[in-house]
Amino acid sequence: MSSSPYPLGLRLDGRRVVVVGGGAVATRRVPALLDAGADVLLVAPELTPALRAHVNAARLRWAPRRFTPEDLDGAWLVQVAIDDPAAAESVSAAAAERRIFCVRADDRTAATAWTPAVTRHGPVTVAVLGGGDPRRAMTIRDAIRDLLAAREGPLVDGPALDTAAGRVALVGAGPGDPELITVRGWRLLTEADVVVADRLVPGLLLDELRPDVELVDASKIPYGPSRAQEEINEILVDRARAGAFVVRLKGGDPYVFGRGGEELLACAQAGVPVTVVPGVTSSIAAPAAAGIPVTHRGVAHEFTVVSGHLAPDSPASLVSWEALAGLRGTLVILMGLKNLAAITATLIAHGRSPQTPAAVVQEATTGAQRMLRSTLGAVAADLVAADIRPPAVVVVGDVVGALDA
Ligand code: SAH
Repeated sequence: MSSSPYPLGLRLDGRRVVVVGGGAVATRRVPALLDAGADVLLVAPELTPALRAHVNAARLRWAPRRFTPEDLDGAWLVQVAIDDPAAAESVSAAAAERRIFCVRADDRTAATAWTPAVTRHGPVTVAVLGGGDPRRAMTIRDAIRDLLAAREGPLVDGPALDTAAGRVALVGAGPGDPELITVRGWRLLTEADVVVADRLVPGLLLDELRPDVELVDASKIPYGPSRAQEEINEILVDRARAGAFVVRLKGGDPYVFGRGGEELLACAQAGVPVTVVPGVTSSIAAPAAAGIPVTHRGVAHEFTVVSGHLAPDSPASLVSWEALAGLRGTLVILMGLKNLAAITATLIAHGRSPQTPAAVVQEATTGAQRMLRSTLGAVAADLVAADIRPPAVVVVGDVVGALDA
């Protein structure tokens, strides 16, 4: 019976760590070492393709041969990721001679250090040692990860160091299904003091906010669209200056027809720290949810996302519909229902076939999702007949139907 291990957080920035072995175990161990900033020396005659990619990108050094004791000169830590017991033992012996801790994938009892099961939540790292049983450690780690993911509120009491001053995060909420927000977006949402949400943001995400979070519904701001945008910018800046962590939650991706850029500039000009968390955009997710891939081998090698909120003949339009009519690939039109008759007529007039398959997907990835299949020539009329309403995405191209069995 040995004593219990002594836990440590090794700060490996710039420090030499030797990994012996180039197979599956090394492939899994190396990324966390690189993430910790370690100066990794990999000793192995052969490498997996993933390890080779690290070598090619110059993220680590590779000695393409078998281990020799001198490989450990200057090292702080060694990880043995080979399953030949005699070879592993010789690494252990060389490490012990040099007083270097040695992790053994092949034999935990022969190791002088154990790697824990880990889960990371922003700045917080939780490491679990299972008393010699890695599977027990992973089970407990999974339970802790689930608890932390479900937990409401920041991981630490009171403002963390980097949140002591106010700041803003522009977060993409995804297309509609609350599960389609990113892991980072979700974490920031649970840490927010103020949430400024759009109309298209999944309601369930807001349902789960702590009661003390101030929720600002940006769609309820009176005044016209441009005045309302100024108002939103002001709310972001004012709340952040008062010390709050403000999450500006936007449908889809913040920069896809979302005015995210204007909000970023407003914060930056006011000296408020601001970050952007990309989101799953409806322009790709809505077709996908309806079984339409925006590209498909042998069918479409391009997709173009375009806003249809202005009619093609509007002087304010920045879209060259004539040029788009000449493309063979997939066309995804957002905010295009109102102007669809004029848009499709323009595309046809400039050469796109009226027989081109087209589809409309309404409220994609939600319980209310509806889809209409048609052609470029008929879709504008079919849409009215089917009573399709916004928010909806129009997809034009041979990818519509590409996955039909
Ligand atoms: N930033 C958003 C788009 C904002 S513009 C994104 O990246 O998804 C708003 C338009 O997006 C709507 O008019 C509609 O065309 C489209 N849209 C957003 N959510 C949608 C959904 N769940 N289903 C279909 N279209 C959607």
